[in-house]
Amino acid sequence: MSEKTIFEKIIAKEVPAQIVLENDDLIVINDVNPQAPIHVLIIPKKRIARISESDEHDIILLGKLILAAKNFAKQKHLTSFRLVINDGVQAGQTVPHLHIHLLAGRPMTWPPG
Ligand code: 5GP
Repeated sequence: MSEKTIFEKIIAKEVPAQIVLENDDLIVINDVNPQAPIHVLIIPKKRIARISESDEHDIILLGKLILAAKNFAKQKHLTSFRLVINDGVQAGQTVPHLHIHLLAGRPMTWPPG
């Protein structure tokens, strides 16, 4: 088993974070370096390094992550938001533990950088 990532340490409460929501499957935290007025990370407790390493056993969990994002947006009355999953270094992934970014609160452009 390789060393814990920062997100596993946050899940284990070994490192503090602003926790927005937590249940048996996932944790939602405020990003420490927000790229928008609202920037949270939806993180599964299961150790999955990246979305490309998920498989059919993760179907329900992946659905729960997306629904957690939707529920967060609804709770915050967000009229528009963006979900992002970076997979691999070239795509900008810096933490090798699957997470979904939810960004909102400012106009966004396309294509992303
Ligand atoms: P990635 O670049 O892997 O898609 O996203 C990783 C995200 O995790 C980044 O937006 C980064 O700011 C955030 N992050 C890294 N370390 C910490 C931390 O210790 N606490 C919190 N709350 N966010 C973190």
